[in-house]
Amino acid sequence: MEAHLAGIVEFLELANSDRPSHNVSCMVKTVLFLLAILLIIALIWGIPALGEARRSRLKNQPFPRHWVIILERNLPIYKRLTESLSRRLHGHINVFLAEKQFIGCGGLRLTDEIKLTIAAVACLLLLNERGEYYPKLSSILVYPSAYRVKETKPVGGYVVQERTVVRIGESWARDQVVLSWEDIKRDATNWSDGRNVILHEFAHQLDQEDGRADGVPILEVRSDYLSWARVFKKEYQRLLRDVERGQKTVMERYGATDPAEFFAVATETFFEKPLLLKRKHPELYRELKRYYKLEPLEWI
Ligand SMILES: [Zn+2]
Repeated sequence: MEAHLAGIVEFLELANSDRPSHNVSCMVKTVLFLLAILLIIALIWGIPALGEARRSRLKNQPFPRHWVIILERNLPIYKRLTESLSRRLHGHINVFLAEKQFIGCGGLRLTDEIKLTIAAVACLLLLNERGEYYPKLSSILVYPSAYRVKETKPVGGYVVQERTVVRIGESWARDQVVLSWEDIKRDATNWSDGRNVILHEFAHQLDQEDGRADGVPILEVRSDYLSWARVFKKEYQRLLRDVERGQKTVMERYGATDPAEFFAVATETFFEKPLLLKRKHPELYRELKRYYKLEPLEWI
């Protein structure tokens, strides 16, 4: 009993002293600090993980039969894709449609056909499984046909020239792709002329992903940049020379505008004229095949 009372007295003395309360407040602060660190770690790791889980769910969602019919009609190579490639394409289309906003412009009423056709061609470029879905792109604006825009051009001495130009598509580095539905439909019925406005504008998006429109998208490994630079520089200069001399070219002449246009036009040619590109420009074909991880020759 005496020992018990002594224990209580000792406890009360301890409770009344300053040191333990100081220890308790220190402990609370430490716990709060640790909780804050854990919360930050959870946010850093948790948000992307949630995003990935959502994408994985979208990829596994069923692909409606009437969507398949639209793809068979508007994507000429669709029927030639292997089972595994078309399944992966369906998954990417599901994610793309869920994450990107479509806006009809100039009175165009958006339909499943318009959205699906654009998503399918854009997602062909994602079959290399880099895991990104045009991260900077938020919306796709679609006009019924070619549209007019006002363009300003500096002409020196603080003078700016304004003119109206007609466009069928454009890719903005920040957040938008603009397309003409009439031209998309024309491309859908002709998958062998090396011209495709969706492939072109979305290749620009890939190029712009690193913040620079310079004809060099984000490549898989460091050593790829060396061989990409060597081949693309040589092939771009060759196209410039051929255009200057008025020679026939496999690629559209517009590719000679600058290195960014060269990559966009090379992408169109790779998917639509693979045989000619491989025969006449084997190194360029090899670089594009390594980047897109696809063999369009199998779809001819
Ligand atoms: Zn372009």
